[in-house]
Amino acid sequence: MEYLIDNEKHKIIYIEYQDELPHSIVTVFFVNTAKKPYWRPEYWYFFANNGDKNDLKAYNSGSGGDDKKIQAPQYIDGYLGARYWMADGIEFEGNPKNIKRIKTPKLLKGYKNSRNPFKVSEITHSCEYCDRCGHYSTEICEEHMYDDDEGNLRYRDDDTYE
Ligand SMILES: [Zn+2]
Repeated sequence: MEYLIDNEKHKIIYIEYQDELPHSIVTVFFVNTAKKPYWRPEYWYFFANNGDKNDLKAYNSGSGGDDKKIQAPQYIDGYLGARYWMADGIEFEGNPKNIKRIKTPKLLKGYKNSRNPFKVSEITHSCEYCDRCGHYSTEICEEHMYDDDEGNLRYRDDDTYE
């Protein structure tokens, strides 16, 4: 499965789902401008914007590292909603916990019926969490947070840092 991001062809090599929705994704793209061309992994965090499952966002949370190995996901006991799909030739580093493998990427029903998470979401360059709201957003939550004199984000109710 592939997707064009900033005119680079990205191959999707790993999709992790939580409760039917894409949550964590790894893509690789070929860097042919380097002295020794190589495949560079990019890590994507997907979230329901303001908790709205019909408004999925994809946030690039980093890149680089081994293009064939993925840090094994570990979920707490009792959580049953974790699944992953992995491309051939990719393996985990470490042991996954409380997550099941699926053979094909999930059909994202109600999301244009695609299996490709990027096709049903929008790439964003900001990802902010508000603990009081309990969800991620592309915007800082002004209702619950403020910038202190040093420019650090704090919660309004008890002045703790984000
Ligand atoms: Zn909030």
